[in-house]
Amino acid sequence: MDSGVTAMETLLVLLHTESDGALARSAIETLGLARTLGMPFSVGLAGADVKAAADSIAACGATRFVGVAGAEFAPSRYSTDAAAAEALARTAGATVILAPATSRWNRVMPGVAHRLGGRADTHATGVSAADGSLRVTRWYYRQRMEAVIERAHRPWVILVEGGCGEALTLAAGTASVEMVAVEAHSRTEVSGFQSPKTGQQTIRPDAELLFVTGAGWSKNQADGKPHVEEAESLILGFLEATQASLGSSKSLVDLSGEGQAVLGFLSHLNQIGQTGATPRHRKGLATCCHGEEPHVVGWRFVTERRAVNLDANCGWARGKADVVYVADAFEVMAQVNALLR
Ligand SMILES: Cc1cc2nc3c(=O)[nH]c(=O)nc-3n(C[C@H](O)[C@H](O)[C@H](O)COP(=O)(O)OP(=O)(O)OC[C@H]3O[C@@H](n4cnc5c(N)ncnc54)[C@H](O)[C@@H]3O)c2cc1C
Repeated sequence: MDSGVTAMETLLVLLHTESDGALARSAIETLGLARTLGMPFSVGLAGADVKAAADSIAACGATRFVGVAGAEFAPSRYSTDAAAAEALARTAGATVILAPATSRWNRVMPGVAHRLGGRADTHATGVSAADGSLRVTRWYYRQRMEAVIERAHRPWVILVEGGCGEALTLAAGTASVEMVAVEAHSRTEVSGFQSPKTGQQTIRPDAELLFVTGAGWSKNQADGKPHVEEAESLILGFLEATQASLGSSKSLVDLSGEGQAVLGFLSHLNQIGQTGATPRHRKGLATCCHGEEPHVVGWRFVTERRAVNLDANCGWARGKADVVYVADAFEVMAQVNALLR
């Protein structure tokens, strides 16, 4: 606990509910991070109905729960989300607002900071309180440099990346939520979702394992022919059995984007690396992927890395993976899937 910071700041943990009324894992992680600061905090909740979510974290230690609820706050929509967030921040008198970096909050919170006359920092990977000040850790230049930043300006909105706080397990209770009335008018009507062209949901940020596919899956194999259908069924079989999240190298995603007959369930959203995503799964398994630096830089936060490659001299073997299986990924994954069944 840093009493200097405690005395100076009014901390708000700002969360939104999901479509089922519950809180996402990243919301609970942000709450876990707030608790490590050792200072009192309020929780602000926005959504169609926030009571169940508040009850699920009643034991989190918050001094106050404030909420904005109503059907208009159910969908992700700039105008209503921003209005709810602004009202919650003002009601709590927040000087520091910690919010999970969900696509929903990422979209509105910089604008909300502007409305509040504050500042926003995105992609925070850590927040700590020491020597009378609050410090935020974040990475720059595609996760190559880590910086610790402080700000004198308030309010300070901090968007916290997933996987950076403890996903608390809290006993449910009954939270008393002060409801804040917000008049939110919008010309935008949310009529539904349009997903990228992928047929199935393969990106699972909360999964324990990241399974990465590389261009090798689409290349000619030992018999001189590609085996794309077999590759599809092996990859989907593994994902189905393990509920792992699917990542890809840029080469394979680009092939898919060009409309070639390769792994139709991949889109650029699956791409890991310098020009792709930097996910935070605990384990990663790369298959048929060479492990070049622009790809592997996206593995920065994957703790335990393994790769299957025919090439004993692939990039993974040069210090980028903990374990490299020099083997045919088609054979390995067929065996693995058989064992999983
Ligand atoms: C500015 C810039 C940004 C980039 N950003 C990214 C990025 O964000 N993400 C990214 O991924 N790339 C990025 N790249 C591209 C990157 O440099 C590589 O070209 C790309 O990652 C290679 O993809 P790959 O390993 O799947 O394909 P390849 O290099 O073609 O490797 C295929 C691998 O499959 C193996 N293989 C083949 N058959 C089998 C089998 N049966 N069993 C096991 N292994 C097999 C081969 O041995 C080979 O190692 C970027 C490049 C540049 C210049």
